[in-house]
Amino acid sequence: MSKHLKRILITGGAGFLGSHLCQRMVDAGHDVICLDNFFTSQKSNIAHLLGKPNFELVRHDVTNPFMAEVDEIYNLACPASPVHYQYNAIKTVKTSVMGAINMLGLAKRTKAKIFQASTSEVYGDPEIHPQPESYRGCVNPIGLRACYDEGKRCAETLFFDYHRQNGVNIRVVRIFNTYGPHMHPYDGRVVSNFIIQAIQNQDITIYGDGSQTRSFCYVDDLINGFIKLMDAPDDVTGPINIGNPGEFTIKQLAEMVIELTGSSSKIINMPLPKDDPTQRKPVITQAQEKLGWEPKVDLREGLTKTIAYFKSINLDDYRKPTDHEVQ
Ligand code: NAD
Ligand code: UDP
Repeated sequence: MSKHLKRILITGGAGFLGSHLCQRMVDAGHDVICLDNFFTSQKSNIAHLLGKPNFELVRHDVTNPFMAEVDEIYNLACPASPVHYQYNAIKTVKTSVMGAINMLGLAKRTKAKIFQASTSEVYGDPEIHPQPESYRGCVNPIGLRACYDEGKRCAETLFFDYHRQNGVNIRVVRIFNTYGPHMHPYDGRVVSNFIIQAIQNQDITIYGDGSQTRSFCYVDDLINGFIKLMDAPDDVTGPINIGNPGEFTIKQLAEMVIELTGSSSKIINMPLPKDDPTQRKPVITQAQEKLGWEPKVDLREGLTKTIAYFKSINLDDYRKPTDHEVQ
């Protein structure tokens, strides 16, 4: 194998972000192992890669150890939508914490470089706005989102302890709300919910009054940031924010989706889930300065591509990951 071609393990590789990363790495000629337990994804997301000589699919749960000889690990395995990560909260903690321990152990043994998909949720319901990496967050440690937020915070701790104690080469990215093709249509996150509702002319479900904000990043921009971080000099460990600083209220998002789909859907208001952050926007100075990265795709353009994707799939081919509702 050429020096430039790497053996890359991608956990959660069949999920939304993982499937894009698998595609990019297979296209670059790398030898890719996609590992997934298919909790919130389906094989259809990576079906087009099956049969390629440099792509391998392994059904495995990251809470159990995994052995392979690899050069790089991208650890993405974890349900990301509140509705699914709250379904089995204890399992969500195990996935983040035991998954990190298992993958860090593998990285230590194989001397692989390892990347952690952390999240803006480590900032909780932030008291400072926008959020720089130096902000330590405002997380309710006993709330409904804690299984995800604290699980991801503990995973960050483990990454830095393995780095300090064992010299493991780590990269930690804090991802802000990302959307695009290959999101599961029944994922439950706001962009997929609104688009699926709009193209079926069903009511658009705004939780609360819709004044809460999020900053939405298109998936291609995010994956470019992942690869830049993985390829950066070894002292660039992160944590580093990757996201699009364009900030929108959820009401503005609903109106834009209705406009772009030409839908006759009405907006309805539903109860706001507990601990739902009121505002979120990344400071991306570090990504700009250390990685030379910034997002290129604005919300209107990204939504147009995502709407085209959701119109192209057959919803009957998808199984709801859980019947859980957000609380
Ligand atoms: P996703 O739910 O589409 O993908 C997660 C994948 O992990 C799925 O394929 C799922 O089946 C798999 N998985 C879950 N538990 C597992 C386990 N125990 N063992 C093996 N596989 C398991 O979500 P996504 O949006 O692609 O998120 C990927 C990663 O990025 C997650 O770690 C998530 O926390 C993080 N992240 C995503 C966003 C975003 O906006 N998309 C934001 C912040 C962080
Ligand atoms: N949301 C909404 N309607 C939906 C789904 C989500 O109004 O059908 C809101 C949710 O309450 C939150 C925001 O949209 O304020 C983003 O939710 P999502 O689950 O996508 O991700 P979060 O950033 O909360 O993890």
